[in-house]
Amino acid sequence: MRWFFVEDIKADDSIVRITGTEFTHLKKALRLKPGSTVSVFNGRGLKLSGRIESVGRDNAVVTVEGSTFNEGESALDLTLVQGLLKGDKPELIVQKTTEIGVKGVCFYSAPRTVPALDEDKARDRVQRWRRVAIEAAKQCGRTVVPRIDYVDFASALAGRGEGLRVVLWENERSRGMGDILEGCKGGPIALLVGPEGGFSADDVDEAVKNGFIPVSLGRRILRAETAAIAGVSIIQHRLGDLG
Ligand code: SAH
Repeated sequence: MRWFFVEDIKADDSIVRITGTEFTHLKKALRLKPGSTVSVFNGRGLKLSGRIESVGRDNAVVTVEGSTFNEGESALDLTLVQGLLKGDKPELIVQKTTEIGVKGVCFYSAPRTVPALDEDKARDRVQRWRRVAIEAAKQCGRTVVPRIDYVDFASALAGRGEGLRVVLWENERSRGMGDILEGCKGGPIALLVGPEGGFSADDVDEAVKNGFIPVSLGRRILRAETAAIAGVSIIQHRLGDLG
């Protein structure tokens, strides 16, 4: 079943129009014809399914036959707070953690490693990461597209709201993931992971002041993207719906 992202659909729509890049994909890449069954989702939980009625010059019309809400979603509200990495590692992280079921990925500019993005660049990159999240959601069959942000380190620490806060810190000697997740009764979780060069002791102090609890992933030092994917997987397994 092919999925298309159309942000402004409503639960009681009886027809839906697919336009823009989603339409180009439908027509040029997939060459779908009238009669094909498709799903259209809004990235906020709503999915409408039906048949293509017509394929025109710049839009396709879908007749809706059914709807679902929150299909494919974990009940766990987990946000990854991740230091910006070089190259296309952010894309990899967005793709994999979307599949594993995060509700949000908040990148922060990491002092000492990758230079902070200026406003224009940041806007472009966030747009690109959102696109990756949409494609990953389609591919894995989830109906909520994770929220993607890019902020500075102080805002990343401060803007976390309620819930459990965990910082992955390779110099933590005693506390492991199991210790902290045991007895955790749901509620939002923020998982903070360092950039390529890791955290300084001051960064971790700052995180602790903001309510983050340092946790080790074991004796081996993982690359930041590995730590992010492993950390999200462990939490989703223990408290969410992975496994
Ligand atoms: N200090 C390092 C390692 C950075 S690893 C260096 O000098 O390169 C990048 C990030 O992955 C870390 O900031 C941390 O958040 C996470 N990480 C990697 N291995 C970890 C481990 N064994 N336990 C907890 N976090 C780890």
